[in-house]
Amino acid sequence: MLYLSTRGHPDRKRFCEILLEGLAPDGGLYLPEAYPQVDAATLTRWRAVLAEQGYAALAFEVLSLYIDDIPAADLKALCEKTYTAEVFGTEEIVPLTTLEDGLQLEALSNGPTLAFKDMAMQLLGNLFEYELARRGEQLNILGATSGDTGSAAEYAMRGKQGVRVFMLSPHGRMSAFQQAQMFSLMDPNIHNIAVEGVFDDCQDIVKAVSNDLDFKRKYKIGTVNSINWARLLAQVVYYFAGYFYATRSNEQKVSFAVPSGNFGNVCAGHVARQMGLPIGRLIVATNENDVLDEFFRTGTYRVRGSADTYETSSPSMDISKASNFERFVFDLLGRDAARTKQLFDDELRLHGRFDLGRDPLFAQAASRYGFASGKSTHANRLATIKATFEQHGVMIDTHTADGVKVARELRQAGENVVVLETALPIKFAETIREALGRDPERPAKFDGIEALPKRVQVMGADAVAVKRYITDHCPV
Ligand SMILES: *Cc1c(COP(=O)(O)O)cnc(C)c1O
Repeated sequence: MLYLSTRGHPDRKRFCEILLEGLAPDGGLYLPEAYPQVDAATLTRWRAVLAEQGYAALAFEVLSLYIDDIPAADLKALCEKTYTAEVFGTEEIVPLTTLEDGLQLEALSNGPTLAFKDMAMQLLGNLFEYELARRGEQLNILGATSGDTGSAAEYAMRGKQGVRVFMLSPHGRMSAFQQAQMFSLMDPNIHNIAVEGVFDDCQDIVKAVSNDLDFKRKYKIGTVNSINWARLLAQVVYYFAGYFYATRSNEQKVSFAVPSGNFGNVCAGHVARQMGLPIGRLIVATNENDVLDEFFRTGTYRVRGSADTYETSSPSMDISKASNFERFVFDLLGRDAARTKQLFDDELRLHGRFDLGRDPLFAQAASRYGFASGKSTHANRLATIKATFEQHGVMIDTHTADGVKVARELRQAGENVVVLETALPIKFAETIREALGRDPERPAKFDGIEALPKRVQVMGADAVAVKRYITDHCPV
């Protein structure tokens, strides 16, 4: 299996070459040359694999279609080490809960940081450790976070050989729970840096450090952001698992409703559908930051400035542009790399938008690729959390509420919709109190974490100071 760039760069690469990379050299995103096709017999076999051997065995089946430069026995061992009941809370790993006829929740947030990013990041940590050991290399992951991504990365990389994490976050701006989750980690390879500024300042520092190519090379600076193909691939597995849990035979169809920001999660659903999984529709749910909903309704993709990016009560979906979206547009355009490059490189850079609304291909987003979309607001979120708790006794978080709201609105008669639950309510306690007038449920292992000792370095918004900190903590 070889990987190409959505912007047409002539190089083709293998999985382990792109594993530790971000963007392709031409600024495009990596995709497989073709999606492996899963026929009816394979679907039947995989259904049995999941039922008899569990999630890790299914993950191995899916991943091995895309990864041919790790020996099968090693890949299997990596999957088994990653997807355990101990780490993810249940034997099913992604169990379903039925809310009402035709509407189920798939739990993706029972991992160490209680958000779906653990599903991919835990695998990434093990893949990184494996590949770095094989190469005899080290990697220093530099990132900026306002919450979920940073903690998922730290819990995935803690204690891993060959990897250090330097994670910047805006000082005093994360919830007490999120700060406790990250800053209570005492592993020597995890470094929390609280920057006196906002999230954008953190991101600017990461950019400034990464743009210093000599420093980047010398200190082996890398990232784990959501455009990483390995993360996306790990997410493909739970669409198969969710489908098998929700159905009895492969004649049935299932639609997925996905709380979306950077389009990574739902893009994995697109890949699963292209492989032949009988997915009905992929329902994209956004919050007030409705870049994606606008596209699927009108064909216009318009990135927002920071003044038009709202801080909402589903903060992990507060994005101004959807960094994985280029992958889908590349497929929608019949894999025309020159045109993809023209839209994402030229038009977005010059005009901050492009419009496919009058292109006949745009209609295929719905007809051929099964996409639908809707949006949700703070008031919708509160009402959905309240109704779901009162009617079903199930407490959902703010992001999942956006998914449930849109799923209820768009669901057609007879359609089976699985909503992906992307975080647990404890992470967003303030909004839960606003919706329900009570505190969210707290998993026992998080009792009292706010009181644990914290390990964090507070620093001014200064790239030079951050570089000095990295230099001081990395033997070269
Ligand atoms: C990251 C995140 C999302 C958005 O996922 P994308 O892959 O960026 O679309 C939704 N909900 C939660 C809780 C998240 O952490």
